[in-house]
Amino acid sequence: MNNKTQASGIRRIAEEPGQEMPADELECLVRKVLECLGEDPERAGLQRTPVRIANALRFLTSGYQQTVEGVVEGAVFPDDCDEMVVVKDVEFYSQCEHHMLPFFGRVHVGYIPDGTIIGLSKIARIVDVFARRLQVQERMTAQIADGLMSILQPKGVGVVVEANHFCMMMRGVQKQNSSTLSSAMRGIFQQDVRTRMEFMELIRR
Ligand code: ZN
Repeated sequence: MNNKTQASGIRRIAEEPGQEMPADELECLVRKVLECLGEDPERAGLQRTPVRIANALRFLTSGYQQTVEGVVEGAVFPDDCDEMVVVKDVEFYSQCEHHMLPFFGRVHVGYIPDGTIIGLSKIARIVDVFARRLQVQERMTAQIADGLMSILQPKGVGVVVEANHFCMMMRGVQKQNSSTLSSAMRGIFQQDVRTRMEFMELIRR
């Protein structure tokens, strides 16, 4: 083991018994990825890349440590409003589970209360709980709808997600201008076409 690799501290993967374990397994694995790509993890520009990527990945998947109940923190309030509430253009950033490449876009959420309303900023927090995971857009859309149904028990929920996927833009078919739309309708949004049409009309731009 030369001085250079010892100085990095990363080479101390337990190759021999009694050797110090690395501080962070994820950083070591990122370093390994760099090596597999033919890069030199010791060159100046890459020395802190493993720690940066490890931190970024932890943030981008922090939704695994969160729950809808946890982020809402009781911010649901009794109210006799029974008209549709729509929050549109909630931006999100997620990563596809097939390539771990970003997909990002906007979420539009509507619900009709049944005695309980939710703090509007909490809808954006719920979006992030499910966006900050490895995802497919269809499942993320359904999870946001189901999360709102469980926390609010409203008459119904509608969620529409518009997204661009880097795995389509940068690789594979390399289509930069296609976007993907997905929707999840629950309760009255599923049962009543007029409710669904009203929601679609309200989120149209
Ligand atoms: Zn993908």
